[in-house]
This record gives sequence, C-alpha cells and structure tokens, in this order.
Amino acid sequence: MFSSLNLDAQILRAIEEEGYTEPTPIQAQAIPHVLAGRDLMAMAQTGTGKTAAFTLPLLQRLLPHASTSTSPARHPIRALILAPTRELAIQVEKSVETYSKYVPLRSTVVFGGIDIKTQKPALAKGVEILVATPGRLLDHVESRNLMLNQVQILILDEADRMLDMGFMPDLKRILTLLPKQRQTLLFSATFSDDIKKLAQDFLANPVTVEAERRNTAAETVTQSVLMVDHDNKFDVLADLIRSRGLGSQVLVFTRTKLTAAQLARKLERVGIPSDAIHGDKTQQERINALDAFKANKITALVATDVAARGLDIDQLPLVVNYELPTNAEDYVHRIGRTGRAGASGEAISLVDGEEERRLVEIEKLLKREFPRERAAVSVAPRAAPSHRPAKAAAPSHAHAHARKPAADDWFMKPYVPSPSASKVEEQPAFCPDKPKKQLAALLCRPPEKS
Ligand code: AMP
Repeated sequence: MFSSLNLDAQILRAIEEEGYTEPTPIQAQAIPHVLAGRDLMAMAQTGTGKTAAFTLPLLQRLLPHASTSTSPARHPIRALILAPTRELAIQVEKSVETYSKYVPLRSTVVFGGIDIKTQKPALAKGVEILVATPGRLLDHVESRNLMLNQVQILILDEADRMLDMGFMPDLKRILTLLPKQRQTLLFSATFSDDIKKLAQDFLANPVTVEAERRNTAAETVTQSVLMVDHDNKFDVLADLIRSRGLGSQVLVFTRTKLTAAQLARKLERVGIPSDAIHGDKTQQERINALDAFKANKITALVATDVAARGLDIDQLPLVVNYELPTNAEDYVHRIGRTGRAGASGEAISLVDGEEERRLVEIEKLLKREFPRERAAVSVAPRAAPSHRPAKAAAPSHAHAHARKPAADDWFMKPYVPSPSASKVEEQPAFCPDKPKKQLAALLCRPPEKS
C-alpha cells in the first residue's frame, strides 16, 4: 500500500484523488531506494507508472525545502528531470503538478520548438522542479535564465531514447553544470550496453530495479501480425478502423514523417477523423492533435516513433503498426502505448513482404514468433469526407466482405504514377459518383458497385 511507503499525507492525498489504490511494481521497488537517497537505475517502460515512481519520492525528499515565500531566491531548482521529447516533458510535468498539488513546491517545463521568451517568466519566479528537454535547457543556461548549481536530484527519463536521439553530448554538458554531490535516477525501457556505460559515468553505486523482463513487451497487450500487400495496406487499415467503430480510437505508427502526414490526410478523406504528429509539425500543432485525440475528437492519430514517445493516453485500445520500425526496440515502445497500467490492449502489425526481415528482428528481440495471418482485403464503399467522428457503430467487420470481382479488372490495379512524376502522389481515395471533370475520372478509382 502507498501508506506503507513513508510518503507525506499531502502527497498521499493527491494520489488517492487520482484513484491509485496501490503502487505499481516499479513504484513499490523504486520508491524506498529513492527515499533512502540512493542512485537508481530502473528498467521500466512507459505505462508501468514510472513517472510516479520517481516523482513521489522526489517530492517527499524536497518537502523540507517547500516554501510559500514569493522570493525567487527561496525557490532554486532542486530537481531536474530530463526527457527526450517535448511531449514526454509536458506529460511528466503535468504529473508533477498533479502529485504536488497539496505541497508548496513549484514546477515548470521547458522544451524547444516554441519561443524561449515565453518560458522565462516561470523560471524567473523560481521553481524547485524543472522538467526539460536537453537542448532547450542548455539554451536557457546560455541565456542565463536559470542556474543548476543547487540541483540535488537529477532524473534521466527514457534515457535509452535520449541516447538514440543523440543527446549524449548535451547530457555530458549538463552534467558539468550540476553539483557533484547529488542523487541521480536513470529510467530506461531497455538496458543496452550504451545505457550501462551512461550509468557507469553518471551514477554512483546505483541500485538496479526492474519492472519488466528485459525487452519484453507489456504482457497485457495482445499482439498480432497481418500479412498485407503493400498496396492494400491502406484499405486494410481503413477497414480495421471502421470495423471497430469511429468512437474506438487507434494510434497508428509509420516510419516516416511523410507517410504519417499522407496517411492522416488519406484517412480523413475516407471519413475517418484523423491527424498526424511528427517532427515537421510545430509544437502547437502537435499539442492540438494530441488534445483532439485525448478528447476523442479524432479517431486515428498517426505518429512517427519520435513524436509518439511517452504519449500517455488513457484507455487506448489499439495500436496499429502501419509500417514496422527500423529499430526492433521501437516496436516495444510503440505497443507500450496500449495496455497501460494493467489495462488490456491490442497491437496489430500490417506487414508487407519487404518488411518481413524487420519482423524477424522483432521476433528475435521478443523471443517469440507471430503467426502470419493473411489479411483479407475488402474494397468497401468509401464514405464522404467528414471532420468530426460520428460515434456510430462500425460498418461491417474488416474481414467479413470478400472482394467482389470488378467488371473490368483494370480498375482493381494499383495506381501507378507516370515515370515523369517527380514525386509519388497519393492515389485519390474515392471518386464522386459523377465526376465533374474528365480529369477527376481519370485520376480516381471508382468505388466498387455492389
Ligand atoms: P507512466 O508509466 O508514468 O507513463 O504511467 C502510466 C499511467 O499509469 C498513467 O496514466 C498514470 O496515471 C497511471 N498510474 C501510475 N501509477 C499508478 C498506480 N499506482 N495505480 C494506477 N494507475 C497508475
């Protein structure tokens, strides 16, 4: 029980209000060590409750410094939480705010992609807990907007991803700005050799705790593979989404920003409310898309690996890998978006022939083989574009319709761009019943007549 973890009554009150009845395994293991002041190396995936595992004891340790004074000098940065992406940083800071709502400790978050000036006022007032992405933190240091010489606790959240994203030089620089005498906690979904090296360099005699077995995907997630020809992937995805109803949300992963953007547009065009988050979107656009998804205003959120890192969406029932990731470990991160904190979830990978090699890599990592089910492709009539989800029941099940032979099989052939086309354009998703212009008729695939 949380009550046996020696946390202050005001912290317990906040988590009780969140509806947490008992600590998750990573919380039960990590909290006593952090309270005892030990350095910690924790292996935990997103979704295991790792944010509270470091935030709750951190608040407890900073409590003696809590102050209601308005003087900035009474609120130096005492805990620094580094996160790889803006989304994760925002999310972690929200959790810090939630858990600290009854204690006079201040927090804020800084990340790149928005005007640095907007982040200055909160820093100038003074905060005990700062959540930051490494690059923007260094920008603030250079602009002398903050000092790190009173940091007592450093947390590296999703350290594996920080290394993947090339943050090592930034991390090393940040380390030189911190007091040597401090507590350091490292959280990572995987313990690669690079992570072990990072821990050796930055941690002192750490305790190691492990919430999940090495590289295992959350056990609450049902995983399956559908073998699909590349050209049929879109139809299979659209059917899959429709079969569950537009009120049932799905997070779809692609490998590239371009595919993410195109796929979201294409889904919208067939009446599935969608948006994309990827590195080329502004911070505000990403926040808007995520908020719309969380508010259930869109059915599908299409994301690249980096952009989706750390997303915490309650009750997300389905993750679809539209394309398998290049890096097998990203598969573990992707499917960790569903089946969170003990809830059950489903992950479906649409795999074409060229991706089988990647599938084998994933199977090696997970030490399991997936049955290769062949996806049945139905070419369902396309709905008119809509921008809001009609929370209606789904049309038929994805695999219920067998494809009917078209009158002329020319129409069933995939669209092939002319060799002169400089860029492969998407195939228009549907034709109006009576195309107004001849050009439209030539460019689009007519819906199948039933
Ligand atoms: P995290 O791994 O920190 O991203 O947390 C994943 C989700 O688990 C978040 O939605 C938390 O609100 C939730 N959570 C964290 N700790 C608990 C707990 N002890 N009981 C129930 N839910 C929790």
